[in-house]
Amino acid sequence: MKPFSISLRLGIWYAGLSVLGFALFGIAMWFVLTSSMLAWKDRTLQMRATRVQAALATMSRRDDAAMIKRLNEVVGLLPEGELIRVARNDGQPLFPRDVASHTSRLPLSSCPIPSLRDVFVGREKYRQMCMPALYAGDTVYVVAPSPLLEDRILLRNFTYGLLRTIPFILLLSGVGGYVLSRRALRPVDLLIAEAKTITPDNLTRRLTVSAADDQLRRLAMEWNGLLSRIHSAMSQVAQFTADASHELRTPVAYIRATAEYSLGLPSLDDETREGLCAIVDEARLMSDLLENLLTLARLDMTPGSLRSETADVGSVIAEVAEYFRPAVNQKEQALTVMPTDAVRASVCMSALHLRRILTVILDNAVKYTPVRGRITVACNMHETVDVVVADSGIGIAAEHLGRIFDRFYRVDQSRTDVTEGVGLGLSIAKLIAELYGARIDVVSSVGQGTTVTMRLPPSCP
Ligand code: ADP
Repeated sequence: MKPFSISLRLGIWYAGLSVLGFALFGIAMWFVLTSSMLAWKDRTLQMRATRVQAALATMSRRDDAAMIKRLNEVVGLLPEGELIRVARNDGQPLFPRDVASHTSRLPLSSCPIPSLRDVFVGREKYRQMCMPALYAGDTVYVVAPSPLLEDRILLRNFTYGLLRTIPFILLLSGVGGYVLSRRALRPVDLLIAEAKTITPDNLTRRLTVSAADDQLRRLAMEWNGLLSRIHSAMSQVAQFTADASHELRTPVAYIRATAEYSLGLPSLDDETREGLCAIVDEARLMSDLLENLLTLARLDMTPGSLRSETADVGSVIAEVAEYFRPAVNQKEQALTVMPTDAVRASVCMSALHLRRILTVILDNAVKYTPVRGRITVACNMHETVDVVVADSGIGIAAEHLGRIFDRFYRVDQSRTDVTEGVGLGLSIAKLIAELYGARIDVVSSVGQGTTVTMRLPPSCP
C-alpha cells in the first residue's frame, strides 16, 4: 500500500493524540468529580447526623414522646430528613415511630465510632452515615442515609457528554492538523518547485534561502552547496574536454597536412598512396570530432542565459543551402528553398549559431537521403519562426527518435553507407537552440523521410 502523505499522517497523529489527551482529561475529571461529590455528600450527612446527635444530647431524661417530637422538629428542617433514623443499642428502631416506609429496609447498624458506608436497597444505592449518640445516658445510633441516584445520573450525563464530544475533537484535530501541516509544508513545496527548474543547463541557479533559522533554511543551504559542487565538477570536466580538444587540434591538423603533402609526391607506390589517403580521411574525421567536442565543451561552460543577437533567417538559409550545393549535386538530389514571406523574418539568435544548427540539420538531410532524393527548406511564421527541413530519406524508427539528441548516439549505421559523423551534430544543435529558448522537433517515418522543425524565437526579450 502506498504510504500516506506527511500531511495526512500528521493529521491522523494530531487526531489520535488529541483524542487520547481528551480521554485522559475526561477520566481524570471523572475521578475528581466522583470524589468531590462523595466528599460533599459525606460532609452533608455528617452535619445532619451531628444535628440529630446534638438534639438527643439535650434530652436529660428518657421520654420517648418528647424525644420524637424534638427530633421531628429537627429533621423537618433538614433535607432528606425523613430518611434519618435513630436505633437502640440492640438494633431496635427508636425514631421514627412509623417505620413502614421503604427506608426501613436500610440496615440499622450499630457503630462504635462515626462511620460511612454504601448500602443497597434493592438496586438502589445509598450513602449512609452512622454516628453514636447519647439519649438520657444510653448509647443510641443516628443513621443518616442519602440516595446516590442523582449523583449517578450526573456522572452518567457527564460521561455521555464527554463521549459525544470525542467525534468533534477527532474531526477538528484531524482536519486542523492536516490543514496546519499543509501550511507548514508549503515552503517545502516551493523549494521542490524551485529545485525542479534547476537543470544541467542552468546549474548557476540557486534555491531561495529563507530568513528564518530553521530546517528549511539549512536544507536550502545544503542544496545550494551541493549544486555548487556539482557545477564546479561539471565545469572542470567541460574545461578538461575543451583543453584536450584544443591541444589535440594542432597535432591532428599537422598529421593531416603532412599526409596531404606526402600524397602530392610523385614517387609514391599505390600501397603507400592508399595508406596516406586513409590517414587523411581519418585525420579529417578526427578534426571534425575535436571541433564538435570543443563546441560542446564551450557550450556546456556557457551560462544558459538568452542572448540578444538577431539573425536574418533568409540569408542564413541561402548561405547554408549554397554551401551544400556541391554535395547535393554530387548525389543528384533536389534541394529546394521554398520562397515564403517568412524568409524575411529575423530571429533572436546569433547568425553564427543559426548557421551551425542549420548546417547540422541539412548535413543529416543530405547524408541520409539517397541519390536523387528530395530536400526542401521552408520558413513559416507562427508564434515562433519555424525553419522546416524535410527530406525523402531513409527516416528514423520511432524507438530511436527520443535518443537522436543524445551525445554520441547514432541509429544503427548498417542501414546506410554513411560513415561520416559521430553522433554529436544534433546534440550540439539542441544545446545551442536551448540557449536561445528555441526548440527542435523531429517527425520521421522509416523509408518515407524526416522533417526537422526549428522553432526560433522571433524577438529577444
Ligand atoms: P551524426 O553525426 O551521426 O549525423 P547526429 O547527432 O547529427 O549525428 O544525428 C544522430 C543520428 O540521427 C544519426 O546518426 C542518424 O542516424 C539520425 N538522423 C539524424 N538526421 C536524420 C535524417 N534526416 N534522416 C535519417 N536519420 C537521421
